[in-house]
Amino acid sequence: MQVVQSKKIKQWVVLGTGGTIAGTAASVSDHTAYTAAQLGVAQLMSALPGVDQVLGGDTLQVEQVAQLDSKDMDHATWQRLALRCQHWLAQPEVGGIVITHGTDTLEETAWFLQQVLHAAKPVVLTCAMRPATALAPDGPQNLLDALTVAHHPQAQGVLAVCAGRIHSAREVQKVHPYRLDAFSSGEAGPLGWVEQGQVRWSGPCHAPEPHAHASKVLARPAADWPWVEVLHSHAGADARQVRALVAAGVKGLVVAGTGNGTVHQSLLNALAEAQAQGVAVRLTTRCAEGQIVGQPAALALTPLGLNAYKAGVSLLLDLMA
Ligand code: ASP
Repeated sequence: MQVVQSKKIKQWVVLGTGGTIAGTAASVSDHTAYTAAQLGVAQLMSALPGVDQVLGGDTLQVEQVAQLDSKDMDHATWQRLALRCQHWLAQPEVGGIVITHGTDTLEETAWFLQQVLHAAKPVVLTCAMRPATALAPDGPQNLLDALTVAHHPQAQGVLAVCAGRIHSAREVQKVHPYRLDAFSSGEAGPLGWVEQGQVRWSGPCHAPEPHAHASKVLARPAADWPWVEVLHSHAGADARQVRALVAAGVKGLVVAGTGNGTVHQSLLNALAEAQAQGVAVRLTTRCAEGQIVGQPAALALTPLGLNAYKAGVSLLLDLMA
C-alpha cells in the first residue's frame, strides 16, 4: 500500500509598515512626487498575482503594524514591530514573516530586528523604489520575491529582498536614491538572488545570535530608550555640536570618521570631553565600503565594522544594560 504523506499546512505573515511600496502619486509617470504609506498591506497583497503559487496551499495572515514614510521611523514603531514579530514567530504554525517597509531606513530596521529577535525562522523585509501607482511599479515583484525567500527552507534570520537580490541585515545598505536596485551588501556581496521564482543562495544563510539586552529592549517603554546621535567628521567640523548634544542630555554618540577612522581634531577633543562626562562614544568610518583597520583614534570602535546608522542601533542596545 502506498502511504501518501500530506504536507503540513503552514502560515505566513505579512506585516505592513508603509513606505513607497504603499505609496501613491497623482500620475503614473511620477516616481518622486508621491506620498508614501497610503495603501494598506491587505490591499497590496490582494492585488498581488502569483501569491497562491508561492504559498502552495499554505495560509497567509496580513497585519498593518504601522503606516509611515520610513524616513520618520521611530523607536515606538520599532518596538511595536519587534513585538508583533516576536508574537508571530512564537506560533508553531508560522513559517516566517515578510515586512513591507520604506527603503530609507530599511537597513536600520533590519539590523534592529536582527539584534532583538531570536529569529531562527525568516523575517524578510521588502520595499519599493517606485510608488504603487507607477506605470511599472517594482513593489509587487519585490513582495512576491520576499515571500518566495521567506518560504525557502534555507532562509533564516532577518533578511532584505529588493530587485532580485537577498541581503543580510548585517550588510544591507541603501546606496542609490533613485534606481530600482537601490541596495548593496558592499564587499560581502548579496546572500543570494531570486530568479524566475527560484532562490539561488551564494552561501549558507545563518541567523546570528541576538544582542545580550534583546529582552530588556522590548520590555522597556520606547520613550525611555537612551538618546543616541550619529555625527560625521568633515572639513570644518565644529565641536559645538558635540557640546550642545552633551548639554542636552545625549547618552551615546556614533562618529563616522574620515577614511580609516580619522576625526577632525576639534571634534576629537570635544568627543574626548564627552566621554569623560560619561557619554558613550563609538567610532566608525564614513567610507561606503570596508571597515577601520587598527586603532586610529582614542575612541572605541563600533563592533563588526557596522556603518554609522547600524552602529547607532547597536549603541542604543548596549546602553540598555
Ligand atoms: N521615503 C520612502 C520611505 O522610506 C522611500 C521609499 O520607501 O523608497 O518610506
